[in-house]
Amino acid sequence: MAYDRNNLFAKILRGEIPCNKVYEDEFALAFHDIEPQAPIHVLVLPKGDYVSWADFSATAPPALIAGYVRAVGAVAKQLGLEAPGYRLLANHGADGGQHVPHLHVHLFGGRRLGPMLSKAR
Ligand code: 5GP
Repeated sequence: MAYDRNNLFAKILRGEIPCNKVYEDEFALAFHDIEPQAPIHVLVLPKGDYVSWADFSATAPPALIAGYVRAVGAVAKQLGLEAPGYRLLANHGADGGQHVPHLHVHLFGGRRLGPMLSKAR
């Protein structure tokens, strides 16, 4: 799937749409999800044109992959979630339930999060 430079998160990364920023460095931007599904629900995006984990893991430069992974850890630490715990989730494609075609990791925390997946089959 080709990267759509007009997707919502591309616009947020370019500053064309505002976000409630939590963290930013040269590799990543993190901000609060507009419709939080936990007391803390933050999205962490790599900087660069990547649709999802598939193209990011296959084609991103190693420095960006390392920087992005470190940024996710730094955000969790900054939010005080290391000790109580947290959950990371990245949706890919239709079955994964991905809605915005720019790679993002959801970071959830602030309560016991319960089962990993809905029991619905
Ligand atoms: P996905 O379903 O692609 O994994 O996750 C997309 C996420 O983006 C959803 O959790 C949704 O609530 C969030 N979202 C959608 N529109 C906006 C927006 O305009 N601002 C922010 N901060 N989050 C958004």
